[in-house]
Amino acid sequence: MGVYALSKEGLRNRKLFILNTGRSLMQGISMESEGKWGEKYFNAVAIAEMNPNDISDLSVGDRVKVYNEYGVVVLRVKPNDNIPRGQVFIPMGPWANMLTNPNTDATGMPYLKGVKVFIEPTDEPLTTLADILKLLGAKHLDIRMEDIPLKTGGRRVVENVVCSFCGDLCDYLIIEVDGNKILRNVGGCAISSAKFLNYHKHRILKAYIREQGKLTEVSLDKALDRASEILINSKYPLIFGLSSTDVETNKYAIELAELLHGVVDNTSVFCHGPTALAVQEVGTVRCTFGVVINLADLVIFWGCNPLEAHVNHIARNVLREGKFIKGRRERKVVVVDVRKIPTANLADLFIQVEPGRDYELLTALRMAIKDLDIEVPTIAGVPREKVLELAEIMRTAKYGVIFFGVGLTMTGVKYRNLVAVIRLIQELNEWTKFAIIPMRGHYNVAGANQVSLWTTCYPYAVDYARGFPRMVIGVTSATDLLANGDVDTALIIASDPVAHLPRKAVEHLSKIPVIVIDTKWSLTTSFADVIIPGAYVGIECEGTAYRIDEVSIQLKKIVDPPPGVLPDSEVLKRLIDRIKAKLGVMYE
Ligand code: SF4
Repeated sequence: MGVYALSKEGLRNRKLFILNTGRSLMQGISMESEGKWGEKYFNAVAIAEMNPNDISDLSVGDRVKVYNEYGVVVLRVKPNDNIPRGQVFIPMGPWANMLTNPNTDATGMPYLKGVKVFIEPTDEPLTTLADILKLLGAKHLDIRMEDIPLKTGGRRVVENVVCSFCGDLCDYLIIEVDGNKILRNVGGCAISSAKFLNYHKHRILKAYIREQGKLTEVSLDKALDRASEILINSKYPLIFGLSSTDVETNKYAIELAELLHGVVDNTSVFCHGPTALAVQEVGTVRCTFGVVINLADLVIFWGCNPLEAHVNHIARNVLREGKFIKGRRERKVVVVDVRKIPTANLADLFIQVEPGRDYELLTALRMAIKDLDIEVPTIAGVPREKVLELAEIMRTAKYGVIFFGVGLTMTGVKYRNLVAVIRLIQELNEWTKFAIIPMRGHYNVAGANQVSLWTTCYPYAVDYARGFPRMVIGVTSATDLLANGDVDTALIIASDPVAHLPRKAVEHLSKIPVIVIDTKWSLTTSFADVIIPGAYVGIECEGTAYRIDEVSIQLKKIVDPPPGVLPDSEVLKRLIDRIKAKLGVMYE
């Protein structure tokens, strides 16, 4: 599977395509219900969505071989009329990662969209998760799927619960509980229900260390001891993840990086890292959900698909009646994307931009709102008339908001796209009111950036090798450090980089000691030397998180954590205390 051997037939039939990856509804539901090791996830993620005409032109049966210079996978084909010809969509996950481009162009962000791939028909076996993990060098695959035993008794209803899945942090859920069993989730979307109702499944309930290649169950003390030894002996450790846990844990992670002279980074490297860079360069114009609901008469979704990734977002921010705007009938909706995503079906105007060319479209819009002449008939595949129409819609809005996603941050000129969109907003504010809000995936990735900014002045990829914080873009991000083989240990907290980072970065995890603190058996646990269980923030313990509009929200505890399982923040605090004691560092 690692090398792409072409048959004569394949050479004749192969065709160049542009690969885009991203979230899909079934990807979210399947990973939260059965987990990434299950068949449902395989069926949702190991697929290539293609235009039916391309499928027919290539004489494809039920599967295709997709390959490029980074790797090769065999996937089931799913026809989709909304995929433009010449493009292929593979949901975010380990199969897509075999093909993504690890180059970060000094942003920390690999190319997870707009990647060139070849596709040919095949009858070879489908690439399984085990195939991929073996190829990547996983250290063990003896994953111990355990569920928390459920005990009923003591039925109750908890109101105003915050959903800890995506960055929208919906804070109006009503959760019905019987003992430690979650029975119902009212108000949460399908992904939220999958998360809450299955919180007890496939849990890490004990600590493990790897001995002679095998995972051995140990006490928490022993696991912390082994983790502290590994970290003390490391010359340059990476502490990574932190977006699916609370800000309290982030604070300790930064303290640990400083103590060890390592690097602390969060999952901004595969979502909105370039946005943070652009904000540092040109500032920003932000608003909260409250402003959108009460004032916005124009909502633009650019490079994001909330109907599949932030499912409640449209009902909450677009359809809802505000103080001055009477819901959808007084609110215009525009979608800009490389394909006709489901959200586009709700839009008054859909603009299809060519992959990787958003910067040109943004530049044309900046020209149009200043009444400068656009001489060419099409810009980035968009007819000039549509560009002028959108510019006029923007100028005449009373309050406009652009929600933008990774379709802007990880394609084309990456962070320059964000500089262009912020400049556009700033210029629109000379006419009217406009703001932007990044659509962020993991529920507290905004909080991870905030804590990092307050504490170190940098939003992510913070290096303490010299004893003080610095961020060297293109050098100190997790993607760059792993892909270049620079770090000699990784501590992964509440994250699954194996499911998100390109192949070259993941392969390095097979060569270095890896410590994982997590709630469930992630793909990254198959690379771990030490595994420590953590409690679910927002279900089994309280914690603070930041919504995508930077509003801080306190998450509730609904049920007790499993016996002996501590919150991530407590695990890190104990780890730091142990390391300080071993190093003879004085307590404050
Ligand atoms: S939109 Fe996001 S935060 Fe809201 S319920 Fe769905 S998954 Fe949870």
